[in-house]
Amino acid sequence: MKTESKIKLNNMLVTNLLKIAFATSNLRLFDRLLFPIIDKGIKNAVERAPGPVTWPGVIEDKYYMVRSMAYSSLKIGASSKFASTVVNKAILSNLRLRKEMEFRAQFGFDPPGFMVISPAKRCNLRCRGCYANSASEKDQLDYNIFTRVIGEMRDLWGARFVTISGGEPLMYRWDGKGILDIYAEHPDSLFLMYTNGTLINDRVAQKLYNLGNITPAISVEGMQQVTEHRRGKGVFEKITRAMEILKKHRLLFGVSITATKYNAEEIVSDEFLDYYFEKLGAGYAWIFHYMPIGRDVDPDLIPTPDQRVMLWEKSWEVIKKRKIMFVDFWNHGPVSDGCISAGRPGGYFYIDWQANVYPCVFFPYAAANMTEIYAKNGNLNDLINMPLYSRIRNWQFKYWKEGDLLRPCPIRDHYKMAKKFVLETKAKPADDGAAEIIRDPVYEKKMEKYDAELEKKTTAIWEDVYKHGTRPREAIRHN
Ligand code: SF4
Repeated sequence: MKTESKIKLNNMLVTNLLKIAFATSNLRLFDRLLFPIIDKGIKNAVERAPGPVTWPGVIEDKYYMVRSMAYSSLKIGASSKFASTVVNKAILSNLRLRKEMEFRAQFGFDPPGFMVISPAKRCNLRCRGCYANSASEKDQLDYNIFTRVIGEMRDLWGARFVTISGGEPLMYRWDGKGILDIYAEHPDSLFLMYTNGTLINDRVAQKLYNLGNITPAISVEGMQQVTEHRRGKGVFEKITRAMEILKKHRLLFGVSITATKYNAEEIVSDEFLDYYFEKLGAGYAWIFHYMPIGRDVDPDLIPTPDQRVMLWEKSWEVIKKRKIMFVDFWNHGPVSDGCISAGRPGGYFYIDWQANVYPCVFFPYAAANMTEIYAKNGNLNDLINMPLYSRIRNWQFKYWKEGDLLRPCPIRDHYKMAKKFVLETKAKPADDGAAEIIRDPVYEKKMEKYDAELEKKTTAIWEDVYKHGTRPREAIRHN
């Protein structure tokens, strides 16, 4: 049998087993019988289609991450409706393959795989340092643009995965419509919604369950004290309640965490993991290291290079031993083949409430605006070859061959270069803060110092562990 057919057959087998597993509520049966077979299928799939970077450590990371993803969601017993949306629409769709071919013929590489959209800047909380604190009702994305973008992603790229970010998405209102109307209007797309969780009650959870195409990720900063220090008194109790409700409704949900110098150890502690994953039933975590952009920027809040290595080490321990999908956005560069910004193959663009388009949520310089593109009868494909995005993508393609994927981020780990791209392409800053820092020599110095120190830490791990396998991971200690 040809390799391609074997890959297809293996994927079909895994998919059907996933469907059975989703419907199985007997955890022991699932653990002992079904998961070992699924596990083997995942290993085959990753080894046969490894992606553009094929170092042994990269393939190992991908296998463990996909395995934890399958295990976490199956263990939760997510609604079968949600499972079938994931499997049939997002993974197995023929439309996706057809659209990928069309896009490749036009642009010479595969299309982006998803989009992050922040439809509303405002929020019902007043967290420290959050840009939403300065929002007004006007800071909302036009519903017609919102829904058109999601339709075009599907029609031009075959992409059906949309991340909804904020402000608080459940606060979004446009002509009497809200975020749930968007989910209902696109039943064949899959939505990951970042939310503060405080507006989730039984009624909302039941609606989300019935829609079957959304997984909420609730923001936490750690345990009660740390969470409330940033998010306000009483918030910990509210989000605990929201998670209990989501669990009762059998909705797959996760947590989203901003890692800083001050909570880095807490978010990988047993107390934290036991509470959110074992007790409350979260199915996954997304960790975003604090990025000094937006209001009140403070580069000193970034987890130190030592802490970054510690988080790398601990996160893999959680993924392997607890089989929790515990994604550390920067440290897990090897899983995503590095930076996923600027519409690279399988990557994304970020659109904010004013329809400005950024390479990434953490890259606050826009090269385009969808309102302007649509006014000229354009579409999403007009973004692809814009100079800022092309330059970042060309760097990413080169980096696949030469780079250290533990330092994947242009704007954070290679600041000097990202700054050059922004200035040379005259990209538009997202706000006053972004305009200020791009010209600030003190900020630049701090970022460069961080980048140089990080390089010293990760180069050896990348060479020894990922590329050549000459040192076991266990031999790496962060201090
Ligand atoms: S620009 Fe940085 S934060 Fe954004 S996708 Fe690339 S690596 Fe991630």
